[in-house]
Amino acid sequence: MAAAKFIFVTGGVTSSLGKGIISASLAKLLQARGYSVTIQKLDPYINVDPGTLNPYEHGECYVTHDGAETDLDLGHYERFLNAPTSQANNVTTGRIYQTVINKEREGEYLGKTVQIIPHITDEIKRRIKLLGETGEFDIVITEIGGTVGDIESLPYVESVRQLKWELGSAALSIHLTLIPYLAAAGELKTKPTQHSVKALLELGVQPDILACRTEKPLSADLKRKIALFCNVNVNAVIEAIDADSIYDVPLLMYKEQLDKVVLAKLKLPLQHEPELKQWKEFLGKLKNPINQVRIGIVGKYIELKDAYKSIAESFIHAGVANECKVIVEWIHSEKIDETNVASKLGHLQGVLVAPGFGGRGIEGKISAIKYARENNIPFLGICLGMQCAVIEFARNVIGWKDAHSTEMSPETKHAVIDFMEDQKKITKKGGTMRLGEYPCIVQKGTKASSVYGKQKIGERHRHRYEFNNKFLKQFEDAGMIASGINPDNNLVEIVELKNHPWFIGVQFHPEYKSTVEAPHPLFVRFVKASMEKQAGA
Ligand code: GLN
Repeated sequence: MAAAKFIFVTGGVTSSLGKGIISASLAKLLQARGYSVTIQKLDPYINVDPGTLNPYEHGECYVTHDGAETDLDLGHYERFLNAPTSQANNVTTGRIYQTVINKEREGEYLGKTVQIIPHITDEIKRRIKLLGETGEFDIVITEIGGTVGDIESLPYVESVRQLKWELGSAALSIHLTLIPYLAAAGELKTKPTQHSVKALLELGVQPDILACRTEKPLSADLKRKIALFCNVNVNAVIEAIDADSIYDVPLLMYKEQLDKVVLAKLKLPLQHEPELKQWKEFLGKLKNPINQVRIGIVGKYIELKDAYKSIAESFIHAGVANECKVIVEWIHSEKIDETNVASKLGHLQGVLVAPGFGGRGIEGKISAIKYARENNIPFLGICLGMQCAVIEFARNVIGWKDAHSTEMSPETKHAVIDFMEDQKKITKKGGTMRLGEYPCIVQKGTKASSVYGKQKIGERHRHRYEFNNKFLKQFEDAGMIASGINPDNNLVEIVELKNHPWFIGVQFHPEYKSTVEAPHPLFVRFVKASMEKQAGA
């Protein structure tokens, strides 16, 4: 394979313009033209990874198959490309500095003053080039987090400047910017974009392509004006208009010919027209659902929907697979109790209890699960949601009123969820959970087995606590069975109820593996069960 080409994506004017979606959409188009593409995110904060961040700070923490705790944009990359990312695809300032400081302590720079330039920028450049050197990719897209002009992103923009100089036509930069519409003036305004490009130029980076977020279409005149002020070709001013769905964006970018402009600048052949048949079919079904169901997501971070990004996207994929619109109702676990649970969940065709940490909202989750169990509402519990299902069953079916997880109640006699053995000696918080993909054997003749249609599966994890196997027999005798087990250490990975139409709890996170082209079977079957509940109701 020829040496990889590099695309840098920066953002200007404001945050939240959707660099991740633009990067993923461009990658999708290039992949659909036959190129092998990967996307990397560089995050300018000091945390070594986002694993230690509260979801209110930064949304969901995504987990890769090799156990990296990453920014949620990596979820978009995987969902769009249907290809796994890895540790190398997300790098933070914390990780860069940690590497450089460790090298300094080892004496690697002996005698030298260790500085941002060249030592930090060299480490940033090494991390960018690393993905290119694997030989797996024709094109590496690197998204720089934050907004140009931030103090934090300066070393990254400087690294882009150096790499563009070193790599010549093998690298290009795309600047995503905002063209605001001023209602009072009735006009789209280009000035913030001009200023943002100026800020980039001051740092020595001339963007090759401008992707312009806008609420209204950009006229040819406006594009010419932007091109003139920002030293780019008119055809490199790309309109990035607000879309109904993030999954529309690849087609909108295709219409704007972003992929063609990129390939021309990288001196790569167009190969063939993008192969997007499956993608278009997906969009067709997304926009023309035949059925609709209402599913509740019970969690404690619901003020910030990004905290459950992958779950929400998995429902979109699974809805399309069933030609059904899934209307998600976000239900705050702290606001549920025994007295109001029927009014909050009674009208739903499915209930999902979300992952999480700590005791806040736990009793609300348990009440929701009890209601779903007793009223035959399809239920999916993920990670903490599965653990709560185990606690609920122990308390209300087996009759151990004090049953709990030692995460919430270290002293309980019925620790049905307990600290994992190999977690006991761990004292540091960062990157020390059970992370990444582990194998699981699905037991024949169970619901889980009919969902997966195979016995050996692999799913991604992020937890410290587990089902306490000491109590397994009592659970199975009472009707909650372990239908998925890790073959290496016997950890219970899936539980389900024998006497319920569809009640499954999983210790892993299926939402991390659902993509447009491969919707996750657990979500697909959960939505199907919810449709059946509706038909039967
Ligand atoms: N807090 C639980 C644990 O650590 C569940 C984690 C989660 O839901 N991701 O085991």
